[in-house]
Formats: sequence, C-alpha cells, structure tokens
Amino acid sequence: LKEYNDFLAEDDGWHSGAEGSGPEVQEIEFKDVSFAYPGARKQALDGLSFKIQKGEKIALVGENGAGKSTIVRLLSGLYRPDTGKILVNGKNLEETDVAAYHRQFSAVYQDAVLFDYSIGENIVMRETEEYEECDHAGSKLDMITDRAGLIEKIRSLSQRYKTMLSRRFDPDGISLSGGERQKLLLARALYKDSPFLVFDEPTAAMSPAAENDMYETYGKMTGGKTAVYISHRLAGCRMSDRILVIKDGRLAEEGTHEELMKLEDGIYRKMFLLQAKGYEED
Ligand code: ATP
Repeated sequence: LKEYNDFLAEDDGWHSGAEGSGPEVQEIEFKDVSFAYPGARKQALDGLSFKIQKGEKIALVGENGAGKSTIVRLLSGLYRPDTGKILVNGKNLEETDVAAYHRQFSAVYQDAVLFDYSIGENIVMRETEEYEECDHAGSKLDMITDRAGLIEKIRSLSQRYKTMLSRRFDPDGISLSGGERQKLLLARALYKDSPFLVFDEPTAAMSPAAENDMYETYGKMTGGKTAVYISHRLAGCRMSDRILVIKDGRLAEEGTHEELMKLEDGIYRKMFLLQAKGYEED
C-alpha cells in the first residue's frame, strides 16, 4: 500500500485541479513539437506543427512507428513535449489545468483495458447502480450500444448490462471477442460524451460489416465534436475533413482525400492505391 500511495502522491509537474473540465477547447496547435521516449535513440516526434479547430474531423495516417499514437497521447495531455509547445486556445498547455483539459477527451486507445466488472460498469466507468436505471429501451445506454454495434450481443445475454466480463467473480461471466471488445470500448468513449474524441485503430479487430457500419455512422457518432481518427484502413479516412500524413515524427502531407490523391508522388496516394489494389479483381 505504501508504494501505491507514494505513486498517487507523486507530482507529475502538471498544474491540475480536482474537478471540472476547464474552458472549452476551440483550437489546439502543435508548434514545433519534439518528443522522445525515455531511453530511445530516435525522436518519436521531430519538430511537428499543425492546428486543429473545434468540430474538425482529422485522420492521422502513416507507416508503423511514424508517431501517430504518440501524437494523440500528447494531444490529450498524457505526455508533454520535450521541446516545442502545445497551445490550447492560444495558451501553453503546460500553464493550464491539464487534468481538466484531459477530461474533455474520450478515447479508444489500442491498449485500453476492460475490467472484471459488468458490461454496464465497463461502459459507464463508475461502480454504480446508476446504469441499471438506464437499462430500458430508448435509454442512453441502449442508444449508445446500438450506435457502437453492440446492442444485439447485449440483448442476447440474460443478465444484459449486468453480465460480468470475466469468470473471476461470477461463474456466468463471459469473454468478449476482439471485435466485441472494440465495440465496448467505443461505447465507453461515446458514453462519456466529451467534446473531443480520439480513435486509435478502433476497427482493427472488427469484421468488414461492423467496420462499414462504423464508417456510415461516424458522422452521427462524432456530431459537432472534434475527432481524431487513426487507422491503417485508408477507406475510413475519407470520412474526415482533413488528413495529416505523418512520416518519421513529422508532418509530410496534409489535405482532404481528394487533394492528397492529386499529389502524383504523394505518400498518401501511394498507400491508398496499394491498399485498393488488394481488393481489385484484376
Ligand atoms: P503504429 O501504426 O504501429 O501504431 P504509430 O505511428 O502509432 O505506429 P507510435 O506508437 O507513435 O507510432 O511510435 C512512434 C515511435 O515511438 C516508434 O519508433 C516506437 O518504437 C516508439 N515508441 C512508441 N511507444 C513507445 C514506448 N511506450 N516506449 C518507447 N518507445 C515507444
């Protein structure tokens, strides 16, 4: 317990308040941001600059290790730059309440965790009876699991939202498949209903039909929110307003799908055509 308490008491150097979510984010700017992981020889981000406006849908594209996940970790206030600045509404993020800023984000990260609690608690993310009241047709929970493509699965379970997500504490607990797990993580992010959504490879384990459903409902899901979407499946990036192509921790290209496809030797164009080739009959 001592080690746990010491860890919690550790000062991470950020200014952070206990409650609230701070002023609404209108604009985020990365200004010449560099970042290296401790002990790494290579910079994960190397002088990166870009801006995101409130309400924009942004896709981050690039090879493995280009720096996409690192960008969203910095963007959501989990890490801070070694050099350069992240400006939020024109103000250096380091001088603001980062915990409050972080609360404005809902994220589906690649390495997110499901807990040995019920499905409902894993979505609401509070140990509470509250979700039981929501468990009826037309409730927020039903609406969200429907949007995330999980409602059929939940309706097939006799305990519905109370079904435990492992057998550790309940012999009737269940295990979810990889795709169902991703749908649950998506439902969790949507339930939080934050103004800023981050999706890091949210469909990698989903079937083609589930993935297509996600593309079709993406606009509705993200509504007036700001959203950043990372995916290697470039078909999904077309639903974004702007695509940022990242290479070796730098911004290599930027534009809409149509604009980037016009760049004769463009990285995005090459990646897109290569992927499309795999689906052509001849
Ligand atoms: P992918 O498409 O494979 O998910 P990515 O574009 O998201 O890749 P990042 O995960 O941001 O890439 O990684 C950028 C660089 O930082 C890589 O060189 C990677 O090896 C390194 N890196 C990422 N996470 C860590 C970590 N936790 N510790 C040390 N190095 C890391």
